[in-house]
Amino acid sequence: MRYDVVIVGAGLAGSTAARILAENGKKVLIVERHKHLAGHCHDYRNESGITIHTYGPHIFHTNNKKVWNFVNKFSEFHYYQHRVLSYADGKLISFPINRDTLAEVFGIQLATYEVEPFLEKEVKRSKFNDPPMNFRDVVVSQVGERLYELFFKNYTMKQWERDPEELAPEVASRIPVRTNRDDRYFADKYQGIPKHGYTKLVENMLDHPNISMLLGVDYFEIRDSLKTKLTVYTGQLDEFFDYAYGKLEYRSLRLEIKTIDKEYYQPVAVVNYPNDYDWTRITEYKYFLNEKSDKTTVCFEYPLAKGESYYIVMTEGNMDKRDKYMKEVERLEKTGEYLFVGRLAEYKYYNMDQVIEASIRKLQDYSDNI
Ligand code: FAD
Ligand code: UDP
Repeated sequence: MRYDVVIVGAGLAGSTAARILAENGKKVLIVERHKHLAGHCHDYRNESGITIHTYGPHIFHTNNKKVWNFVNKFSEFHYYQHRVLSYADGKLISFPINRDTLAEVFGIQLATYEVEPFLEKEVKRSKFNDPPMNFRDVVVSQVGERLYELFFKNYTMKQWERDPEELAPEVASRIPVRTNRDDRYFADKYQGIPKHGYTKLVENMLDHPNISMLLGVDYFEIRDSLKTKLTVYTGQLDEFFDYAYGKLEYRSLRLEIKTIDKEYYQPVAVVNYPNDYDWTRITEYKYFLNEKSDKTTVCFEYPLAKGESYYIVMTEGNMDKRDKYMKEVERLEKTGEYLFVGRLAEYKYYNMDQVIEASIRKLQDYSDNI
């Protein structure tokens, strides 16, 4: 069969693009290196009837109604609001920082209106760059050094294996600070978990007569035989350009997934471990879909420098390299023959909804220009 478009990668970026193009009458071929769909949000049900997120915990959250409507076309969503506790000073503490966190750490009961002045005092006695220039500055400028050291410093060193001062401010902006008692990890308007899992959601997206798939095939092995007008690339940015400007850094994880013979392991889906042990967090999967089982499955995340690329690393060196690669991307996209989209291809710390939004936007711009 002749294809109009080849899409590299069956994650959310590639699958969103595939669906939009297919609905516009294009014949699409997806080439995916893994033998499974859904990229980093892949999941499956284990023998205890618990849905496991293969690459670590994934919670869908967005403020973008267009994105929410789009995903809801392919799956119902289970109502779920993500709550996380942080294991610090030998106890489980409410996190992200909110009024209850301060009560637990400092042993003081503050009214909501007293929280801001309290944190301001903490900040005043701390040293940081103003305006903030890095991860540490952002956190310390919001909550002061004491809370930074308790919840952020060591977690960040474990996760990224570098000084938080080397990381871009945006990494810290992912974590909110609240003056009220809202202890949800995300405050987005729309949140949830696909009722039948992310893999099923992606399968439904790709269930279209104009979409064909090659799984377990590396694009670079077959690209010379592909003659399409358009290539949508969602793999690693540096790999596409044969590392012309040097390797971009990605971080990986070793996930230790264990099924335990008891009903529950911890009180919430995720517990962060900033200071103790070598893992950063433990996820107990059954909470996401409220699955019932006599057993429970948990996942310990150990950060790694090498392996499957899970995270981009927002340091100055990497972002400078990214700029050089993105100039090449701009040049290629101008020809109308290529689009680069997604977490790996744009080297951006995207959440799932941002990937979908970016994919929708890119295709919109593309069709406006042809
Ligand atoms: P990917 O999912 O990485 O898909 C790219 C695909 O391209 C992959 O399947 C890859 O195999 C394929 N590919 C690459 N190169 C080639 C090649 N040469 N040939 C063929 N195929 C190729 N987001 C949230 O919104 N909420 C969360 O709670 C959340 N938690 C996360 C937790 C962890 C541990 C991680 C790592 C990420 C988390 N994310 C979360 C982010 C989310 O996983 C990503 O934003 C999203 O999955 C990225 O989609 P993508 O399509 O851009 O990339
Ligand atoms: N972070 C931290 N302490 C925590 C949680 C997060 O210091 O308890 C920092 C850490 O650097 C982490 C970043 O904030 O990498 C982003 O956290 P998030 O939970 O968004 O990480 P992700 O889900 O992307 O792994």
